[in-house]
Amino acid sequence: MKINENYKNLSESYLFSTIAKKVAVYTQQHPEQEIIRLGIGDVTLPLAAPVVDALHAAVEEMGKKETFHGYGPEQGYGFLKQALMRYYARRGVVLAENEIFVGDGAKSDIGNILDLFDVDNTVLVPDPVYPVYVDTNVMAGRRIVYAAATRENGFLPMPQADVQADLIYLCSPNNPTGAAYSRDQLQAWVDYANERGAVLLFDAAYESFITDGDVPHSIYEVNGAETCAIEFCSFSKTAGFTGTRCSYTVVPQALVRGSLHLNAMWLRRQTTKYNGVPYIVQRAAAAVFTEEGQKATRAAIDYYRANAAVIAAALDEAGIWYCGGKNSPYIWMQCPGGMKSWDFFDHLLEHAGVVGTPGAGFGAQGEGYFRLTGFGDAEKTRLAAQKLKEAVRVL
Ligand SMILES: *Cc1c(COP(=O)(O)O)cnc(C)c1O
Repeated sequence: MKINENYKNLSESYLFSTIAKKVAVYTQQHPEQEIIRLGIGDVTLPLAAPVVDALHAAVEEMGKKETFHGYGPEQGYGFLKQALMRYYARRGVVLAENEIFVGDGAKSDIGNILDLFDVDNTVLVPDPVYPVYVDTNVMAGRRIVYAAATRENGFLPMPQADVQADLIYLCSPNNPTGAAYSRDQLQAWVDYANERGAVLLFDAAYESFITDGDVPHSIYEVNGAETCAIEFCSFSKTAGFTGTRCSYTVVPQALVRGSLHLNAMWLRRQTTKYNGVPYIVQRAAAAVFTEEGQKATRAAIDYYRANAAVIAAALDEAGIWYCGGKNSPYIWMQCPGGMKSWDFFDHLLEHAGVVGTPGAGFGAQGEGYFRLTGFGDAEKTRLAAQKLKEAVRVL
């Protein structure tokens, strides 16, 4: 018996456990000090009323013989895929129903998609990065090369002619940096992938936060993407489904490598290893696209974005460089005075009682940077922004 030894190569993620430990120690020493968390990457507002109504109605259906649902289509129900097709069509992207695969999370699909690719491929991953892209490939034993995201390139690395890559991960708007690629920048990546026969894995989990007209919501708004890109998106951040679980992955019919159609391969993979998202959850997801559903979910996104704007304004006043916040719930700030990420974490906790996420936890290039999020409570975010401003003044 041989075990998958690649698991030994995974680096232990101490990021969130270390944060929790430091906060616990601080709270013990300063029980009177209120802690404000601007480090969370999870939504905090409840599901919108139209979504909850759809869940209730679907539960009632499940309790009656005439409307009960057993196994559904592995790729998702037609009613949800049709709603998604109309959502894409609003931006001029025409998808066929069989190009959409409903799933239980972008995280799972981003990991599972690797079933389609040989281990003998080079993977290009931005640094800093959502750790899932790295760890899933380490588990499989693939070669990983990093594209440095830096202040110089606005945390949006561009293709380099001398870098050979077969699988390319892009996340825009980005977690952790909040930076978002323009149409022209994404066109350069699509052209690069098509020229080399590489496949782009495009993570659009934060598309609903985009405000800038020049930032595509979908990679398929870019010419030629249908022959090189797979897109992952999720209801998690769009509609507060982090605990409800529903996502969608687009694999175009035109995406062919060798003699194999990736759409047919993914269909085969999903029908073999997966039995689909619960009917009631798909009904809840479809309710996001009704008029009332859109209104309510947009209001939640506006709430988070307004929080990010409050943090951004405080950083502007303090003269601190940052990116993100505009098309994203995330703000990626440079630690003042050349401080390292963890030193700034300690300083902010000590002087403001505010908890953020050290950039170094997302990759080597994240050192010296710090992630703040707009996912918190509005009143507390205002208070935290004020304290943040005061805490950097004493540096
Ligand atoms: C939150 C997030 C997702 C969504 O994951 P789910 O499994 O759908 O909850 C995907 N990608 C990134 C970068 C994220 O931050």
